[in-house]
Amino acid sequence: MKGCIFCKIINKEVKSDIVYEDKDIIAFKDINPGAPVHILIVPKIHISSLNELKDKDLAGKMLLIAKKIAKMFNVDKSGYKLIINTGKGAGQLIEHLHMHLLGKGDKDKWRLP
Ligand code: AMP
Ligand code: ZN
Repeated sequence: MKGCIFCKIINKEVKSDIVYEDKDIIAFKDINPGAPVHILIVPKIHISSLNELKDKDLAGKMLLIAKKIAKMFNVDKSGYKLIINTGKGAGQLIEHLHMHLLGKGDKDKWRLP
């Protein structure tokens, strides 16, 4: 969608530190990390928030990829947190569905998105 920063990242119009990509999903490092590991897991299709997500396969895939990324960054055993901010009232700043994955180090020092 025009003007959407995450669509621009998906289309490679804006640079990002991509850690995973397939035909449906991209994952990249958060530009302002709240934890030593802070990855955003983003569907390639523009869906403005979780409220608009209908595709069960895509929903499931986002979780399975989160699990894979947790393993990639070696936080699968130490622990990680998944967060989906939905709506302005919950702090959703980017209106393109994304799931935060946070991990590593002292969780009390994490700044939750
Ligand atoms: P939210 O508040 O849930 O909408 O989270 C949006 C997240 O996107 C924030 O943690 C930002 O730091 C992150 N972010 C914004 N722009 C970029 C970017 N160009 N590359 C990577 N992360 C970004
Ligand atoms: Zn978008």
